[in-house]
Amino acid sequence: MMNMQQVFLNGEFLPPDQAKVSVFDRGFVFGDGVYEVIPAFSGRLFRLPQHLARLESSLAAIRMRNPYGVAEWDAIFTRLMQANGTADQSIYLQITRGVAPRDHAFPPNATPTVFAYAQPLKYPPAEQLAEGVAAVTAEDIRWRRCDIKAIALLANALLRQQAIDQGAVEAILMRDDFVTEGAASNIFIVRGDRLITPPKGPFILPGVTRDLVVEIARAHKIDCDELPVSAEMLRAADEIWLTSSTKEILPITRLDGRPVGGGRPGPWHARLFALYKEYKRAFIAGQAN
Ligand code: PLP
Repeated sequence: MMNMQQVFLNGEFLPPDQAKVSVFDRGFVFGDGVYEVIPAFSGRLFRLPQHLARLESSLAAIRMRNPYGVAEWDAIFTRLMQANGTADQSIYLQITRGVAPRDHAFPPNATPTVFAYAQPLKYPPAEQLAEGVAAVTAEDIRWRRCDIKAIALLANALLRQQAIDQGAVEAILMRDDFVTEGAASNIFIVRGDRLITPPKGPFILPGVTRDLVVEIARAHKIDCDELPVSAEMLRAADEIWLTSSTKEILPITRLDGRPVGGGRPGPWHARLFALYKEYKRAFIAGQAN
């Protein structure tokens, strides 16, 4: 299926075709579980403490315990990566409430199912970075706990497909006329010389890349506000970007079929992306956390 030597399942490292999960797993039956995606650059897990902190809060929100500590996760991810050579990779991990007879109520003593694998990181094509991508707005039809990184992604998949069907790469989700986030990304706009991204809360995933962009901007004295972004502000933006661990910072140059700003990636994207890459280089060299 994929170019993958081994996956991790419930304490074992196995070839993918030997890793089996029960049809009564609550992840399969209810979507009852949480996940993380962690990028690794040159074999180093990027922002691991931040990803594990988010995992911890996702687990707490669904009333589960983290089966492993930081050192154990690190060892699992490192072993998964080693089988895949030196290319940049992304780690996927998911934890479900385990196997139990189908009943909405939590099973009294199910063992969580823990699954993880590493795969080469697929960066956006160079052309998308050079030209920017198209996005469409869509009503945010998701629930009110989008801060949990839940494996139940049906709404996100429907919304992403809605974007693809319109020739776009991402849907920018709107709740009550305000931007929440993308179907699988966070959103930034540029207005004059300030960056604005929607504030954290129950309607967005607290993106690790989002937080890093905010951190980098502030470290360089660039104005960066966490404020509600209305539909009107979105339409009038000079630049729009999406951020995620695998897409990094990608300019959106068309929105609902119309050009964003000048219709080309803007100077603020160039500046923040350069600062982001500088940070990444320092991290790989062991000079940044
Ligand atoms: N929002 C949603 C709904 C996502 O699925 C993702 C990641 O895929 C993000 C935001 C970006 O989060 P991160 O930067 O931690 O990858």
